[in-house]
Amino acid sequence: MLAGVELGGTKCICTLGTGPDDVRAQVEIPTTSPEETLAAIADVLDGWDFQALGIASFGPLDLDRTSAKFGSILSTPKPGWSGAHLTSLANGIPFAIDSDVNGAALAEGLWGAAQGLESWAYITIGTGVGVGSISAGQILRGAGHSEAGHQRVPKLAGDLFAGCCMYHGDCVEGLASGPAIAARAGKDGRDIAPDHDAWRHAAHAIAMLCHNLVLTTLPQRILIGGGVAIGQPQLLEMVRHYLCSSLADYGQTDGVEDLIVLPGLGERAGPCGSLALASRAANWH
Ligand code: ZN
Repeated sequence: MLAGVELGGTKCICTLGTGPDDVRAQVEIPTTSPEETLAAIADVLDGWDFQALGIASFGPLDLDRTSAKFGSILSTPKPGWSGAHLTSLANGIPFAIDSDVNGAALAEGLWGAAQGLESWAYITIGTGVGVGSISAGQILRGAGHSEAGHQRVPKLAGDLFAGCCMYHGDCVEGLASGPAIAARAGKDGRDIAPDHDAWRHAAHAIAMLCHNLVLTTLPQRILIGGGVAIGQPQLLEMVRHYLCSSLADYGQTDGVEDLIVLPGLGERAGPCGSLALASRAANWH
């Protein structure tokens, strides 16, 4: 039996089970202060019997095992969470910790739309834009974890929107996240018509991100999920269109329908990501 904790900006989801088709229990906890939230999660975990724990968290995270800050959240604008240590949740049980998007990417490899592949990427479009990259079966590792959602990309000709990333303005996240789309359209995402120009600009930024991923981390497939992508199915076709015209037949653009897809697990990719990490900690896979 495995347990997983997905720590999100507004809520945390604790899951007990062995995979998406075998979830025995799930508890949702609002994300407030780290003290209150982590204590509530620890209470839930105390009541469960499991072999290994997976922690999939918003970042940035320190994932350097030699660091004194291993398993803690680094500098974040989220009040109180900078420096919060997450590994104490494991309480002596084998555990794995990673970014929420890397967890979701792993889950898609085990149970979703990336089964049988060696290298793939998972992009989430929600309050931010996150990218999880799996290269030759392993999570892309190095100094920190992927922050590919913050790369700078060219905008559509004549676009004067300044973007809304608090660090970079018009990076991909600043152009294509839910708040960016709402800021451009001047209204809440739920009230924006599917054919509004704001979607076209967001899709273009995501396509430019995919262009760069295709040429650098070599994904055999790119899964585009998160609330914004899943709620707006027209985005995927626009991303495919802009990607093909951007790559201009350079590289692997045959079969773009199979290259750019929705996640097989849909909205469950996040919570299942924590179980996928737990399964690694238990050496199941
Ligand atoms: Zn940025």
